Amino acid sequence: MHLQLCYTDAYARRVEGEVVALDISGEAPLVILDRTVFYPGGGGQPSDRGLLLRAADGRQWTVRSARKAGGEIVHELEPDGMPPGVGDRLTVDLDWARRLLLMRTHTALHALCGVVWRDHGALVTGGNMEPGSGRMDFEFERMSGDLVGEIEAKVNVELAAGREVRVDVLPREEAFAIPDLIRTKVNLLPAGIDEIRTIEIVGLDLQADGGTHVANTSEVGGIRVTGYESKGRINKRIRIELTGVLAGA
Ligand SMILES: [Zn+2]
Repeated sequence: MHLQLCYTDAYARRVEGEVVALDISGEAPLVILDRTVFYPGGGGQPSDRGLLLRAADGRQWTVRSARKAGGEIVHELEPDGMPPGVGDRLTVDLDWARRLLLMRTHTALHALCGVVWRDHGALVTGGNMEPGSGRMDFEFERMSGDLVGEIEAKVNVELAAGREVRVDVLPREEAFAIPDLIRTKVNLLPAGIDEIRTIEIVGLDLQADGGTHVANTSEVGGIRVTGYESKGRINKRIRIELTGVLAGA
C-alpha cells in the first residue's frame, strides 16, 4: 500500500509523488500515486478535491474526487485531454480551503457527539457533512427545542476551551476495552481490521474514526444549530453550521 498522509498529518496539503497506476478505461481517468495528501472520503466526510501538477511541462489536472479501492487512494480526474502517465512526477495539491473547512466541521460534529453523550447518554447512529455544515443522528428520545439550545451553548463552551484533538492507532483488543468507543459501534467494524484509528477531543470525546480533524478545538470557531428533526420516536437529527464562515465556501 502507498503512503496515505491524511491519516497521520491532516495539515499536509501538498506532496510530490509518482504515478504508479493509471486506469483510462472509463469516462474519467483514475490515478494512483506512490504518496498522496488526499482524503478518500468516508465516515460522513466527503473526499477532497484539488490538482495534480506536472512540473516537467507545466501541465495540470483537476482531481474532482477520490475514493478508496483495494486499500489504495484513487484520484478521479476531470476528463481533459491526455492524462498523466505511469512514472510521471506530479505535485499533489489539495483544495486546502475546502479541506480545512471540512476538518473544522468534522471536529465540531465530534464535539456535538461528546456533549450529547456526556450530558444525555444519547448514542450516535449516523452523520454527514459538507464544508461548513453537517448533521448527526442520535438515539435521543427526550430531545426538544430547549435542550437543543442548551446543547449548542455547551458545545461552544467546549470548542472555546481549546481542547487538544489527538489521533491514535490502537490494536483492536485495546480499542474494544475502551467503554466509550462502543457507542460509535466499533464492534461493527469488520473482523479483518486489526488496528483501530481513534480521534480524541481530550477530556470530551473519543471515537473510532477515519477522518481528518483540526489539532485543537479553538480552530473550529463556534457552531449554530440550524435545525432538529424527529426521524421516529427515538431517532432525532441535529443540524449545525460553523459560525463565521459561509457553508460551502
Ligand atoms: Zn467522525
